[in-house]
Amino acid sequence: MTQEISLYTPLTGYPELEAKIAYGLAKVGVESAEVESITIEPLGGCYKITINGTKDKLESAFNTIMHRLFSSKFIPLNTPGVTSRTALTLTTQKNEKFELDDYFRLPAINFKNQTNEPVCRHGKNTVSAVIGLTASTSYHHERDYINVDNKKENGEIHKTHRPTNPKEICKTCALLALLGTWSTTFIFNIKDQEVVITPILKQKLGGAQLIKLFSIQHQLRNIKMTADIPSTLIPILVLSKIPSNLEVLKDFDLHIAVLTRPQGYHVDSLYIGATGKYIEYLNNNSYNIAAIDNMFENNAIEALSVLNNLLITRRKDMLLKFARVYVSQTSSDNWINLMYYQTAKYLSEEVCMINKEIINNKAISSLAQTLRYFVKERKYHYADDLRNSRKDSKDFEETIVKMLREARLRKEQDDKIHLPNDEEIKEIFNLAQDNFDDVKTSIVLLALAG
Ligand SMILES: [Zn+2]
Repeated sequence: MTQEISLYTPLTGYPELEAKIAYGLAKVGVESAEVESITIEPLGGCYKITINGTKDKLESAFNTIMHRLFSSKFIPLNTPGVTSRTALTLTTQKNEKFELDDYFRLPAINFKNQTNEPVCRHGKNTVSAVIGLTASTSYHHERDYINVDNKKENGEIHKTHRPTNPKEICKTCALLALLGTWSTTFIFNIKDQEVVITPILKQKLGGAQLIKLFSIQHQLRNIKMTADIPSTLIPILVLSKIPSNLEVLKDFDLHIAVLTRPQGYHVDSLYIGATGKYIEYLNNNSYNIAAIDNMFENNAIEALSVLNNLLITRRKDMLLKFARVYVSQTSSDNWINLMYYQTAKYLSEEVCMINKEIINNKAISSLAQTLRYFVKERKYHYADDLRNSRKDSKDFEETIVKMLREARLRKEQDDKIHLPNDEEIKEIFNLAQDNFDDVKTSIVLLALAG
């Protein structure tokens, strides 16, 4: 008789380790029961996995998978953060049997912090909780003096630096975490760094969504990035590579560990970020994704950083800074690359909440057209002066007057240049009295987009 079985992860306190164990258990579920019946639910620190099946079937599937995947050290050895010495401890012996009893009860909270206790509090057969299982255990910096041991030898105190201080974890949890790693995490290289991204779910997930989650990592195995990319930019870059699967990752955090191996493994940086704001941006229109590709191909790291900042902070001044840096970093010597109009619209209306009546105002787009003429000529100073102008100064009006004077002079030689009429200019100055920031932002933004 099948019944609903609930399994619980051990509450290790390491977010990505906990999630990997949960994915490992769900993967075992997929091999032994109907996919539709499987759910994972975050319980604040640990996860509950429900499966419609029997304990015997689940345990037998678990043992089969463990022996199939871990009888050789191939998988552990190819996991970033696992050295060849530890890989050997993460293989199964011929008659080794694994039980799931420990996962059938909600983990007890034990406030006593016992030094030699394994992180999962399952006794028995333990292995090292190395970086490959959880990078969080190993993020120790010398400057914090966390990784310094004081040892007394012959009456003298020696300080020894430990690059890592892995605790112990039971072997069953370790293998489940590896199974979870190879089912869900995104692993790729940025120059000589190995990046491991663990999606951490914040809402209950089940059935088809779970299968989708298991399939995403295959699409990301071959990403190659050769530029220096700060870890804060990894979420938006990675998400832009999987546009058709973004919905699944909507309620996730991405846990990013960047590893290097000068001697042994070292955690270079750890970063956790929510996916929501990036997914909103990427899902809105395909130009938004094209803009990311464009910046990535042109190595426009500063532009990407400003966009990242803009999406998170939603600050209006970041919008114009982004537009300006985007144009200069993606343009070549003989071609000015303007921002996509659809991206400019999205960022101004949905991210910075600029008054739609202002950004769609005819007079404003007329003046923006004149300003764009100068941008295309690489004469950025009018755009920059407007961008930097303040409400109570005369800079805004003076820059416009100066620009219109030059435009009128040029009109005699170049018929293509567009000139706004006097009514439009009057309307803009009137609008600017009450909505200075929105008017200024709209004019410059539209000039830099096309
Ligand atoms: Zn354990």
